[in-house]
Amino acid sequence: MGEDDIRRSLMRISHEILEKNKGAQELVLIGIITRGWYLAQRIGKNISMIEGVEIPVGALDVSPFRDDEKRTPKDSDRSKIDFDITDKHVVLVDDVLFTGRTIRAAMDGIISRGRPKSIKLAVLVDRGHREFPIRPDFVGKNIPSAKDSEIIKVRLKEFDGEDGVYILKV
Ligand code: 5GP
Ligand code: MG
Repeated sequence: MGEDDIRRSLMRISHEILEKNKGAQELVLIGIITRGWYLAQRIGKNISMIEGVEIPVGALDVSPFRDDEKRTPKDSDRSKIDFDITDKHVVLVDDVLFTGRTIRAAMDGIISRGRPKSIKLAVLVDRGHREFPIRPDFVGKNIPSAKDSEIIKVRLKEFDGEDGVYILKV
């Protein structure tokens, strides 16, 4: 995906989120650190352009909630969610969906902060190979990948200096 493809995908996802939610009421976006957070901010800007209202956008660090070796102590949590999520419709945003373990951890992270009315999932890329019963509600692009011999490289201007999605053989 090039810069224009990413921009159009995120604009479509923004419209789909608003269509499903019937507007921006009680809608909050939570992006998973690192690149999901930049994507959530872009979707938030699109939504404020389309609907003329600002919606809260938070950043979630899932590492304290992981079930595997990538777990880190809670005191290193880099999350920034300075609004109440109780009774809100939360849309989680991430760059790549793979096994689903990150999203499972993200749901723990959200529920530890309040009781949302619903949680939906938006991802730029779904590369398949789920290990948990998790599916995205909004997808930029489905990119079927080999589980062990391919990875998806996502580059975003805010962090990497350019926008692009590539399939890499490893
Ligand atoms: P999962 O927890 O679903 O196995 O993996 C999803 C998380 O790991 C996402 O936060 C994503 O950033 C990262 N990830 C997993 N696989 C890939 C991949 O192929 N490419 C990129 N860029 N990130 C990945
Ligand atoms: Mg990630």
